[in-house]
Amino acid sequence: MVAVAAGFFVTAGILEALISTGWFDSALIVYPTPGGKPKSRAEGVAEVQLWRSTVTVAGPATIANGLAMVLVMTSSYGWGPVASWWAATPLHFAAQFAVMLFVNDFGLYWGHRIQHESAFLWRFHRAHHRIATPTPVSVMCIAQLDATLQGGLPMALAAAAARPCPAALCAFFFYRVAENTLNHSGLDSRLLDALCLKALPFRAPAAFHDAHHRYSNHAHNAKNYAESFWIFDWAFGTLSPLVGKPQGRASKQA
Ligand SMILES: [Zn+2]
Ligand SMILES: [Zn+2]
Repeated sequence: MVAVAAGFFVTAGILEALISTGWFDSALIVYPTPGGKPKSRAEGVAEVQLWRSTVTVAGPATIANGLAMVLVMTSSYGWGPVASWWAATPLHFAAQFAVMLFVNDFGLYWGHRIQHESAFLWRFHRAHHRIATPTPVSVMCIAQLDATLQGGLPMALAAAAARPCPAALCAFFFYRVAENTLNHSGLDSRLLDALCLKALPFRAPAAFHDAHHRYSNHAHNAKNYAESFWIFDWAFGTLSPLVGKPQGRASKQA
């Protein structure tokens, strides 16, 4: 839970500070609004209350998901102190991390997609789609059930598949929440994507999820459900033609 909270507050703080400097203005995705002036990212921040974000990263669903994770890990390693916090070699560490990211994104894809396709679940996911113009701090504007389907369960599935060392698991929690925050930054920056390992083959850039908010703000037939890789949307026929190419960019207006 500490890694989850750190992943959000550290990354959101850094990204909001970067945006406020104006250095990344040219990378900010701004969608044209028919008949009106585009809504700024700063206006989107006002829609999100910080206490809601705190409840999301430290609320009952996160605690329940954390306990589920303890059960998954103890089923792999047994109760009691672990023999080592670290993997045998850096390569093992990287492999565990990569397997978790891949399996998590598969689970996230379906945990996200069923919420668009089920009328009952859409009532929960709709809260997250209130943020048509995402910002770093708005990432935690999400219902607890939604956070479980897109966060807790896929992460538990990833841990069960990779059986990672505790250090790799914590690094994965931190990275995944940080990546999710970048995905809501509205920054279509090759530099930031590269720094966050999102410029590697098969990875989805930050603009990928931004386009989900802009063009799939509705139940049914949405696009770009995954967040870390574009291949699941490609394989299951939900890749948006707007960002259909690897490293594709959402439409921008300076
Ligand atoms: Zn959605
Ligand atoms: Zn989102």
